[in-house]
Amino acid sequence: MTQHLKLYINGEWVDSINPQRQEILNPANQEVIAKAPKATKDETEKTIRTAKKTFESGVWSESDPQERSRILLQIADKMRANQEVLVTLEVENNGKTKREAASDVTDAINTFQYYADLLNNPNGQTYEGDDDLQTMIIKEPIGVAGLIVPWNFPLLMSMWKVAPALAAGNSIILKPAGITPMTAVKVFELIDETDLPKGVAHLLMGSGSVVGQTIAESDDVDIVSFTGSTEVGRGIMQAATGNLKKVSLELGGKSPNIIFDDADLRTAVDHALFGIFMGSGQVCSSGSRILVQEGIHDEFVAKFVERAKRIKVGPGNNKDSEMGAIVSEKQMERIVEYIRIGKEEGARIACGGKRIERDGMEKGFFIEPTVFVDVTSDMRIVKEEIFGPVVTIQTFKDETEAIKIANDTVYGLAGAVFSSDQDKAMRIIKKVRAGITWVNTYHLTNVQAPWGGYKQSGIGRSLGTYGLDEYQETKQINVNMDPKPIQWFG
Ligand code: NAD
Repeated sequence: MTQHLKLYINGEWVDSINPQRQEILNPANQEVIAKAPKATKDETEKTIRTAKKTFESGVWSESDPQERSRILLQIADKMRANQEVLVTLEVENNGKTKREAASDVTDAINTFQYYADLLNNPNGQTYEGDDDLQTMIIKEPIGVAGLIVPWNFPLLMSMWKVAPALAAGNSIILKPAGITPMTAVKVFELIDETDLPKGVAHLLMGSGSVVGQTIAESDDVDIVSFTGSTEVGRGIMQAATGNLKKVSLELGGKSPNIIFDDADLRTAVDHALFGIFMGSGQVCSSGSRILVQEGIHDEFVAKFVERAKRIKVGPGNNKDSEMGAIVSEKQMERIVEYIRIGKEEGARIACGGKRIERDGMEKGFFIEPTVFVDVTSDMRIVKEEIFGPVVTIQTFKDETEAIKIANDTVYGLAGAVFSSDQDKAMRIIKKVRAGITWVNTYHLTNVQAPWGGYKQSGIGRSLGTYGLDEYQETKQINVNMDPKPIQWFG
């Protein structure tokens, strides 16, 4: 039976007054798995007012860090107990494989665990100044946090925001992507069972242009934390100028994966495959531009293509599937269009290039792992974020040229270097203008490490202590330890 989703406002599950519903599809077969509400501007504004009222009441914003830690752990425990349900929902709604979804759920739980632990650490500093002045530097929550997330990691991107924003003591409004609300709804059902005070956490489903835009524009929202495309991120920043709210942006990428001729080829091929085809290439940090040193180009391409052709594409809930579906028909068509553009630009397809419509996959949105060779830096397939299982392979002569090509992009999210010469690898990686980088590996990271981009890949950082800072204000309190007149004026 199709599930009818509701909005979660002020601790209650409520229907939207808008009769329109968004059909939520399983991208592996186009089955309708749920119908989601589309909150109106009025409902969004009302929710923001409620969140603000709760913030001002102090029930959460002034609670002890230990209490916030306890409740974050409750959420982590409940997610752990519902791990399989969350995996199933993520697979059904997003199209990713079970293995990928399981890793996302574990990482989401770890995020709550990490921030719960962090709350038990000292927070703040004191300085002894001249004239008996003691200065304390303390952290406080910002206020109402609008959290807007994309569809590629519906659970993980949401929880990367929800956990630190709650840890800091903010009131939060989460807006998942219109097509992938399922795991967010489940987590809010779990949050509802915890001791989190009513009115602190709200979940609004609906369109970006109504719910997202209203959050970004609202004078009563104090921070908007957005993960999504650079184009929408730019609009969010403009919308946020009204009350000069804090803006945190995790945006797109076109990340270089630089492979030197002294790299262990088997390792480099293996990690490069993982770098681009994990999540069907719908990953912001994907290594979508492979740069290979001239001497090993042909051998690298032969080995890479041979492995890419063997990737088993199929429904995410099939245990043999190694790469799942594309999230939606719209996204699939966008990828197919980029493949057409690549061919028109004169690039050569070394493998893939087509939608897969066989073996029961006719109704799903599946695309072959696609490799473009004979590409040049001015081609659109090299410059623009495709966000699908499509990779371009270019060559470079030496270190200087590798860096030049790697940084020849408006993005600066991620990058990797493969070489057996550690000194060289470090020299190169330091020159890559990106916030998330790897040496002889790809994609692996830790919740302790700040996640975010340079240039048009964003502003601010998620995760680690930096991720908590994003949701906090910093205050100095100067205390006169020996009050007496200073007689500045005669
Ligand atoms: P998107 O920008 O289209 O949408 C993201 C979110 O913004 C959705 O919830 C959407 O409803 C909302 N939105 C749309 N228009 C809006 C508006 N005018 N005002 C406010 N909100 C609005 O992105 P997407 O297609 O869902 O996701 C793919 C993009 O996300 C890619 O560019 C990818 O690189 C990026 N991404 C970045 C990171 C990162 O950490 N840097 C992580 C994941 C995804």
